Amino acid sequence: MSSNHSSGAATPAPPEIRHTGLLINNRWTPSAAGGTFAVFDPATEQEIAQVAEAGEPDIDQAVAAARAAFELGQWSRLPAARRGRLLERLADLIEEHAGELAALEAWNGGKPIATVRQVDLPLTVACYRYFAGWADKIEGSTIPIPGSYFTYTQPEPVGVIGQIVPWNFPLMMQAWKLAPALAAGNTVVFKPAEQTPLSALYVGQLIVEAGFPRGVVNIVPGFGKTAGAAIARHPGIDKVVFTGSTDTGRSVMRAAADSNLKAVTLELGGKSPNIVFADAPIEEAIRGAHGALFFNQGQCCTAGSRLFVEESIYDEFVGRSVELARQRVIGSPLDPASQHGPQIDRRQFDKVMRYIEAGSADGARLVCGGNRVGERGYFIEPTVFAQVSDEMRIATDEIFGPVMSILPFRGMAEVIERANASSYGLAAAVWTRDMGKAHRMAKAIRAGVVWVNCYNVFDAATSFGGFKQSGIGRELGQYGLREYSAWKTVIMKV
Ligand code: ADP
Repeated sequence: MSSNHSSGAATPAPPEIRHTGLLINNRWTPSAAGGTFAVFDPATEQEIAQVAEAGEPDIDQAVAAARAAFELGQWSRLPAARRGRLLERLADLIEEHAGELAALEAWNGGKPIATVRQVDLPLTVACYRYFAGWADKIEGSTIPIPGSYFTYTQPEPVGVIGQIVPWNFPLMMQAWKLAPALAAGNTVVFKPAEQTPLSALYVGQLIVEAGFPRGVVNIVPGFGKTAGAAIARHPGIDKVVFTGSTDTGRSVMRAAADSNLKAVTLELGGKSPNIVFADAPIEEAIRGAHGALFFNQGQCCTAGSRLFVEESIYDEFVGRSVELARQRVIGSPLDPASQHGPQIDRRQFDKVMRYIEAGSADGARLVCGGNRVGERGYFIEPTVFAQVSDEMRIATDEIFGPVMSILPFRGMAEVIERANASSYGLAAAVWTRDMGKAHRMAKAIRAGVVWVNCYNVFDAATSFGGFKQSGIGRELGQYGLREYSAWKTVIMKV
């Protein structure tokens, strides 16, 4: 291990795992076929647990439970304020169990526990609370049209929602999906990623404890090609909401189209430009760019993975970025001192290592890192490439790992054109003290979110989603909430 590897002295014991079944109709059940799959600790490569593997018959059952809860059960007829109170209660329970949930998320997801406590858990709780507040405030409008008509819009729940999430932010992605769907009166079939089902199942237990009626939330761990695909093509599901890679998003949309033409919301990949002008607040920009890329071991769809730095400050910026990357404390995710854990699994580890090779092969200058750390676990050193140019694979592809690519640029017009020359358009950032320039950049960059002099600032109130091939639809905030209602127009002759 490298010299900045944490001691591991204060590492807490991993938590007890209570539930490994499917949650259907508020009951824990094995899968119909009886199959299970192994879930691993990415820091040690050891198996943590066997979890029930949902197949097509289980998805059918979960959809039937969600449909019954929606049509026959109390859910859609429950006063909206009551839905809000249940979401508040769930947020309370998550806070009460924050210690166990943080340990579980760190252990199964390879995420440094300090980050889980400071970022993932507070944002998770805040998301449930934010949408709890919306439950009884989802309103339509009256519309003046010519003639003797009284015209109004009426939001109604969409119905049964299928939700599929990735492994990089298990708790937070679950909150982003469940909270607005439930606030708007829908019922849900939720599939966590096969790598990280444990915290989702733990929250399932809290959902039952909070008093949600049966069938409202069904949790079905399993693989993408089986359970995920069964959700995407299910005729009994009214809408599918997916976060993951652009390629998988394409198959989800295809399956939605080929089956019942269900609605889709897709939050997909990114290759986000992070643009630092010479007049930036330089210290903040260097630290901001470091966090933008290395946060969560680079496993963020918003990672600032095309770091454009203006020529006159380029060398200094690279030097300081390398210093910071070398200081990052690598260690067991359960160690509170650790800042940098392993990649999620062997496949991701191998993919990142291949991109590091590609960076050197394509002629970029490897200025720090590039190696595996230790012999066990999927740890990769924080890695920095300088003199990266636009056509290199490390500048075009989503790496999803701790690999920073720093590209020099000259002037605003040039950097706008280069930043927009990507099939992705998820996020971007601009660092400058010139607010006129900041506004011009924010307008010119084609991305769903543009941060100015900051990065990865998320709040349940701010909508999030992609331009171009980074996605369809929005999550969070008012715009995210609207996607969980069907908007009916009523025109009445008076
Ligand atoms: P990654 O490549 O990072 O694992 P994916 O986009 O493939 O990301 O996976 C994100 C989520 O999508 C996971 O829950 C996974 O099981 C699911 N998934 C994968 N393939 C499919 C598919 N063909 N249909 C539906 N869901 C899928």
